Amino acid sequence: TNFDVIKLINTCIETAKISLQKDVRFSLTSTFQPVFVDADEAHIKNVISNLIDNAIKYSVENVDIVISIVERNKDVEIRIRDNGLGIEPIYHKDIFDRFFRVPTGNLYSVKGFGLGLAYVKQVIEQHDGFIEVESALEKGTTFIISLPKSNI
Ligand code: ATP
Ligand code: MG
Repeated sequence: TNFDVIKLINTCIETAKISLQKDVRFSLTSTFQPVFVDADEAHIKNVISNLIDNAIKYSVENVDIVISIVERNKDVEIRIRDNGLGIEPIYHKDIFDRFFRVPTGNLYSVKGFGLGLAYVKQVIEQHDGFIEVESALEKGTTFIISLPKSNI
């Protein structure tokens, strides 16, 4: 079904704010609106919530989460950027594998199963989309999701 991604992301942000244990700022911008996609709304909501959850978990303090939406040809591109720990490029291909967690540093005290990103990737690919990561250690992380725009 068709839904507006901006509305959905705002709901995810409000939900994330309820249980914050750190100082987190959110921003959401789009070059157009509404942003309709034809997708499974519940799964896409889980995708966005998983990426926001990671952005918060793998950041220390004064967390800035910047979400931006742009149109790219027939796709909607959603970028979710944080200013957290970052991920070394050697691990970029592994983080989408089930049960993989980056085996370094602070991660020992951060709980997780290593399942979130495997789920995220599966949902996005089932919608004929794709996901990419841009990140370096201590430079923060950006996840980029592309989904086909709805024709309606
Ligand atoms: P789960 O999501 O199942 O609770 P998890 O967060 O460990 O556990 P994923 O979401 O699949 O699992 O992420 C895999 C690994 O990728 C994480 O353990 C972490 O090492 C790294 N990672 C994911 N997102 C970020 C991020 N925003 N910043 C830094 N590292 C990240
Ligand atoms: Mg996770």
